[in-house]
Amino acid sequence: MYPELKLFIDGTWRKTDRDIPVINPATEEELGRLPCASVKDLDDALEAAVKGFRVWSRTSPRERADTILRAAALMRDRIDTIAHSMTLEHGKPLKQARLEVIRGAEFFEWDAGEAMRTYGRIIPAAPGHKFAVHHLPIGVIAAFSPWNFPMSQPARKIAGALASGCSVILKAAEETPAGALHIAKAFEDAGLPPGVLNLVFGEPAEVSGYLIPQDPVRLVAFTGSTGVGRHLTTLAAQHDTRVLMELGGHAPVIVCEDTHVQAAATSGAVRKMRNAGQVCTSPTRFFVHQSIFDLYANDFVKRAAATVVGNGLESGVEMGPLANERRVPALTELVEDARAKGATVATGGAQIGNQGYFFQPTVLLNVPDTARIMQEEPFGPVAVINPVASLDEAIDQANSVPFGLAGYAFTNRADYIDRLIDEVEVGNLSINTLEASMPETPFGGVKSSGSGREGGTEGLENYMTVKHVWHSAGIV
Ligand code: NAD
Repeated sequence: MYPELKLFIDGTWRKTDRDIPVINPATEEELGRLPCASVKDLDDALEAAVKGFRVWSRTSPRERADTILRAAALMRDRIDTIAHSMTLEHGKPLKQARLEVIRGAEFFEWDAGEAMRTYGRIIPAAPGHKFAVHHLPIGVIAAFSPWNFPMSQPARKIAGALASGCSVILKAAEETPAGALHIAKAFEDAGLPPGVLNLVFGEPAEVSGYLIPQDPVRLVAFTGSTGVGRHLTTLAAQHDTRVLMELGGHAPVIVCEDTHVQAAATSGAVRKMRNAGQVCTSPTRFFVHQSIFDLYANDFVKRAAATVVGNGLESGVEMGPLANERRVPALTELVEDARAKGATVATGGAQIGNQGYFFQPTVLLNVPDTARIMQEEPFGPVAVINPVASLDEAIDQANSVPFGLAGYAFTNRADYIDRLIDEVEVGNLSINTLEASMPETPFGGVKSSGSGREGGTEGLENYMTVKHVWHSAGIV
């Protein structure tokens, strides 16, 4: 069921001389060999993308939308195959992989509709003159997608680029290449002209270091860690190239004294463990009013400890392994640091077994501000629950990190909600739910969590440039 891995350049599939293994994180078995692009492959992709842009930017928005919708329909048809290969390479439970395929298709469907709504505007002018603002596709996009959502992350970037009339070279994550590969296959079968979508793999720094400085590249779109995002932004700035950055988060959850404690605790524990916590919007720092702290923490710990962990292909499994080996020591160190500084490890805290990269659902209580985890995103199944005395303290704690992607709160008090909307420094705030975004809502961060938005009516703005046209009826 795992696909043969190839690059997709100028409408054709190709192997390369150099390849690296793709590992199943649940079994540590090799799933396939990932071809790494050479400089020649990248040059071919650039040439194809320039040609593809000429064709696609001159294709009507309706025709672009139709092609995208055909591809999305194929992805929905192929849900079993795509979800299965994602569970193999990433580890997530099959049910969550299926939901991701649907979400990926929805990103395409939303942006296909937006392709026909990239309105410009008319500015009033003197008689004999017309001022018109046009929104035009920016050009060739160099996109980089991470391993936590092998299909929906590439979908976000490809959807925005293609709906806008841009061509794209996507380097998908080397750990989880199959999601992007299935997307490229769907577009090939949907009749996308050659060169509009090109898919490459390889050593990330080599590929980004070569592509970003190239003249045809007009936008760098990246999702991943803040450190890498900053590096790519600096590289792009040296070539006056625009960036769209979706970077790390460290989401706060403010739990107020008026909430339904048990429902909020269950919601927190279940959502924290989704995708093994490897989500940039994952709820992580729970600030709970001191009057309900014990009850909340108790319910949360019980539900977290009951999470069924195992191979994502097995039915009933709620959480798979971490997606790659390096995350196991990274999480262990964060937990040990918190423990050494005085936190209570209420459940979990260690690797499970000696085959696969499984990590226990972990809850840390009463974590001091000096612990690394209070500033560093764990990007794993680890929650911090701390008591707070007031909403003021909760908001101060929420804003005490450099990140500002998603934030959550549980309350029904109108005065609290009013303050949360104004004062919590995030791009996405959710109240009484731990869902952060939908295809129709703009998603992105403030502070070190990035710039630009994906989805919503704002999504295509990143991929377009503004041209003002002044038409004078007579020569003046
Ligand atoms: P990492 O920073 O090494 O890599 C993150 C992603 O960036 C990977 O997909 C990788 O292929 C890519 N990347 C790395 N260096 C690159 C370069 N020079 N050019 C282009 N792409 C490059 O971290 P990691 O160990 O893979 O993951 C851990 C951290 O990454 C987490 O702590 C989390 O903050 C972040 N992350 C965030 C997201 C997100 O959705 N925002 C997704 C995955 C990882």
